[in-house]
Amino acid sequence: MKKNSTGYEGGEKTELNVTRVATKASPTHRLQQSYKFHDGTVGSANIYTTIDGMEFVYRDGYDESKQNISFDLAIKAYDELPDILKTSVDRMELYDYPSPQDSYWQKEYNDPDLVSYATGGSRTISFWENDEAPKQRALEAIMRHEAAHNFDYGSRFSGSDKWDKASRDDFKGTGISSPTEYGKNSKHEDFADSVDWYADKPASFRKNYPNRAEYLKGILK
Ligand SMILES: [Zn+2]
Repeated sequence: MKKNSTGYEGGEKTELNVTRVATKASPTHRLQQSYKFHDGTVGSANIYTTIDGMEFVYRDGYDESKQNISFDLAIKAYDELPDILKTSVDRMELYDYPSPQDSYWQKEYNDPDLVSYATGGSRTISFWENDEAPKQRALEAIMRHEAAHNFDYGSRFSGSDKWDKASRDDFKGTGISSPTEYGKNSKHEDFADSVDWYADKPASFRKNYPNRAEYLKGILK
């Protein structure tokens, strides 16, 4: 997800189950040598494991001034993820440098200013260097978006005929091609931002995008 791309306010109760256990006990810590990070680098890693098995990982000796997401905040935000999205994430990695894929996405999305706050993939969510201290709600939105990408592995939902039809039927009603500006970049981003919004504010999402909402209700069980 790009920085500052969450464009709506919260305030509704989600319809999805949220079981909050990660914040109930302190995570256990271990230092692992030769840990293979999601970006391909290898090194010793601090790994914090919550009681539900979620891992928060960062390179030993990393520069905390370049990563403003604290572990406390990360774990609190993670606990608010709907259970169905938690099933698609095994670990979160925090980095003190920018995503090596930024230049690729700058070209792909024709946006030279694109700097990734976080990226999904392979049951991992990676948080890249950032100089902002995010609020918990903003971090929750980022996690929902990235977890939705993981849930959508192989484009099994965003690439389906049903999603395509739901998007077209919503367009007939609204004349809007995607719920968010960022979602216009691709059907994957459209799907991830739709999941984020639907999980957070189901009534307002359904009012605007009833066909996507109906599809999401069926798969996010
Ligand atoms: Zn995305």
